[in-house]
Amino acid sequence: MTTYVILIILMAATLLFWLIWNIRQYYKRASRLIASEGFEIEAKCEVCNRQFRIPAIQYMKHGATKEKSTAKTKVKGVVLDNSPVFSYYAKKVDCPFCHRRTWAQALNYGEYQRRYQPVIMRLALGQFVLIAIGGFVLCKIFLVISKIL
Ligand SMILES: [Zn+2]
Repeated sequence: MTTYVILIILMAATLLFWLIWNIRQYYKRASRLIASEGFEIEAKCEVCNRQFRIPAIQYMKHGATKEKSTAKTKVKGVVLDNSPVFSYYAKKVDCPFCHRRTWAQALNYGEYQRRYQPVIMRLALGQFVLIAIGGFVLCKIFLVISKIL
């Protein structure tokens, strides 16, 4: 009974680790992809109103928790397209002009989305398949071990 409980805990821990590792891998891959293309965000400081270019990867990393956006879903043909279309998207970044960490609106966020959303979605889907297959294999391994014990 005790070994069974330990095995269950080990299995849960392994699956959790597998999930976290895969999510990290996904972010690494997505970051590498965006960084490799050198796409730049046209940012506009909301304090001094000046525009500056910032690498997309840097902009997206900046204050990942602080973003405000207004999005609305649109109707594409007869199907409701649920992917958000941002009319406004801003993040907190360091402005090179007024040297303050402040909100900067991404003026070309729509272009960024159009360019990277499909690729990133495919990447996420691939990673999800890997998570599922790996999780299934791990469960099978633990099942075999539990039968041996
Ligand atoms: Zn500024």
